[in-house]
Amino acid sequence: MTARGGVNLHPAPHGLARTSPGLYPPLDDENPRPLGVCESCRAVHQSEHLAGHVGETVACYTCGALKLRVFDAREPRHFFATGTPKDYNGFSEIRGFTTRPTLAVYESGEAQTVGNAQLSSNREGEPHEILTFNDYGGRGGFFFVPVTSSLRDAYKVEDDPCSQTHAQGRGRRVALLARRRTDTLQIGLARWPQYHHAPPESVEGRAAWYSAAFALRSAASVMLDIEAGELEGGLYVTRRSDRAEAHAFLSDRLENGAGYASYLARPDQFATLLRNLRHNLRADWTAHAATCDTSCARCLRDYTNLGFHPLLDWRLALDLAELLGGPEPLSLSGSHWEALYKAEDSPVATSLQQLGFRRVREATVLPTFIGSFGRSTKAVVLRHPLWALDHPDVLSAKGALANLDPKVESPFMLLRRPSDAL
Ligand SMILES: [Zn+2]
Ligand SMILES: [Zn+2]
Repeated sequence: MTARGGVNLHPAPHGLARTSPGLYPPLDDENPRPLGVCESCRAVHQSEHLAGHVGETVACYTCGALKLRVFDAREPRHFFATGTPKDYNGFSEIRGFTTRPTLAVYESGEAQTVGNAQLSSNREGEPHEILTFNDYGGRGGFFFVPVTSSLRDAYKVEDDPCSQTHAQGRGRRVALLARRRTDTLQIGLARWPQYHHAPPESVEGRAAWYSAAFALRSAASVMLDIEAGELEGGLYVTRRSDRAEAHAFLSDRLENGAGYASYLARPDQFATLLRNLRHNLRADWTAHAATCDTSCARCLRDYTNLGFHPLLDWRLALDLAELLGGPEPLSLSGSHWEALYKAEDSPVATSLQQLGFRRVREATVLPTFIGSFGRSTKAVVLRHPLWALDHPDVLSAKGALANLDPKVESPFMLLRRPSDAL
């Protein structure tokens, strides 16, 4: 049985319940602070400036792209259901449409630098707001209409798009919002080595930051001797030097904070955390490299980060951990990525051979695969997932194969989408 609507229940005499509007703000009121989520950089904004723009896509305050989807998100009080209750039959996995926890963009205070990590957290006693919303799989929410039966002040989800209530304009499309105030710690890079990046607009960039967030969480759970689920991890996107910049964030799962995130924000504690990640976790994860191309239950995956499993990658997490230690350039050859493409039977080499490519040794400074497809010849060169396209090795490889206009792909993407090579 699924929830059919929202209601606010108050205890009343004789075991009965009184009802009142089940959404805050109530459906009759305009939402003074709608939510905006950028489809490009993934920044989350909740702002009075978005009032009057619900249902529109406007320019993102963070990255500038015309991709900030504005929707009306309200907090439900209680839910009600109709129909006959049935026992759970165990055949399907119960999963909601709710998003991952997010941290809306806010004015940040003083940041402090530990190694090459730039840390910012909430002031003591002023926890940040973590938002989780359910916009019904990108549809902007559920269509709620007031019901005028015995549940006089309830709102029902209306499935029929042609109903009278739709026609009379009495309902609204509303996403469900949950807010929680808790302690948070945002972790960004103070300085990038030249020609390296992990922008929130790219899959690799987001994967790197999510992987780093969950790697830091694993290291923290060992260091503090707590369950990994006591902390949440995620991506925080803000604006710096006129562009969107990604950070990892950790937050306490407990309302008002259990003190873990603020403890880890202390420079000495964060230095220990990073050291644990760069040494202990690196040793464990490197030892399982032969059996784990991306991520598994032995490294980054667990039930609490189910929605991120395809993105998570322990190699990316360790690369970002190195960059948090210091802005030294990352290399592809000789790195932990090499095992994925170097040998004939390695996963990337195998899938490229299946597509019709063969490895051409010493064609360029980067690993190069070339294939003939009918009358055309195609080439793909491999780059490190955190290299920008103006990296000198990429430019050199492209120059050497200028007549073939090679694709430049990372082992990270080719493992997940081999056909990108074509
Ligand atoms: Zn944006
Ligand atoms: Zn693994």
